[in-house]
Amino acid sequence: MKAVQIIQPNELKIIDVEKPVIDEKNNVLVKMTAAGICGSDVGIYHGTNAAATYPRIIGHEMVGRVAEVGPGVTQVKAGDRVIVNQVTSCGHCYPCRIGRGNVCDSLAVRGVHIDGGYREFLAVPESDCYLLPDSLSDKDAVMIEPTTIAIQSCTRAELKKDDMLLIYGSGALGSTILKIARLMCDHIIVADIVDDKLEAAKANGAKYTINVMKEDLVEKVKEYTEGHGSTVSIDSACTKDSLIQLLKATGNAGRVMTMGFSVAGTEVNQFLITSKELDVRGSRLQNKMFGKAIQLIHEGKLDLNGAVSHTFPLLKAQEAFDFVDSHDPSIRKIVLTFDCFE
Ligand code: MN
Ligand code: ZN
Repeated sequence: MKAVQIIQPNELKIIDVEKPVIDEKNNVLVKMTAAGICGSDVGIYHGTNAAATYPRIIGHEMVGRVAEVGPGVTQVKAGDRVIVNQVTSCGHCYPCRIGRGNVCDSLAVRGVHIDGGYREFLAVPESDCYLLPDSLSDKDAVMIEPTTIAIQSCTRAELKKDDMLLIYGSGALGSTILKIARLMCDHIIVADIVDDKLEAAKANGAKYTINVMKEDLVEKVKEYTEGHGSTVSIDSACTKDSLIQLLKATGNAGRVMTMGFSVAGTEVNQFLITSKELDVRGSRLQNKMFGKAIQLIHEGKLDLNGAVSHTFPLLKAQEAFDFVDSHDPSIRKIVLTFDCFE
């Protein structure tokens, strides 16, 4: 079968690999139908993702149809449409024991540390398969994965109805966080550097917006929060100075969420954290959030239709990644499709 492998940074190849076979652990064979291209896939392709190892079959937004199941499988059957959990964990280390397998000491993320979904078939445990709602096409269903990342950050932030939330950065990550956050709280401020994105944020439930190219973030956040500052700030910009900015913009007793993966040093100071008794928390991947995302779709609270802007057949992955590099303004979500193997 065919797969897309990043041999080393900036070298993408279509390769032939053995079709996986199911065994006792990986007891569900999934025939891929759609795989999203995420910013982190682009990072692995370009060698800027510190977590990735090479060579790697990438792709962690994995949607497909169940082709075959092993003897012990009870929840899914051949023909079912599923999305596959990207996180695999050991189950017995400290984080796993306290129910936080997304930061397992031996964490292995499909498409990052182990092979992912840019291939015709994959064999996975039944517990990693989540049934798709009928209302969602396979290609739109890849958006469930980014949604789980957003649910994770809002959950880690303990976002509540009366919070005054600041979402810093309104790109792919920030706009997905907004979609989830507006279900949990009413007072949302979105900051970005692009007016169009801020306009979209307003249409999607942001109460206030700040263009940090033209306005002072901290001053404006104070103005929009009756002088207190935000009670929760989520960093979906992940730039060099975003953390210090959020430490300043967040009010006493607030929570500041980091989501960035940069290993570059950044200057912060203890006084900001100590004097306001801030909780600074990381949010990584997602912890059993697929079920929650799918439940929100079933309840009619979350609509993921229409987010995909472009599709490319898997065998044209190189074209797709080149197109991403063109930064064409029409790009929202790009999905690799598998019709070429029908
Ligand atoms: Mn993703
Ligand atoms: Zn573990």
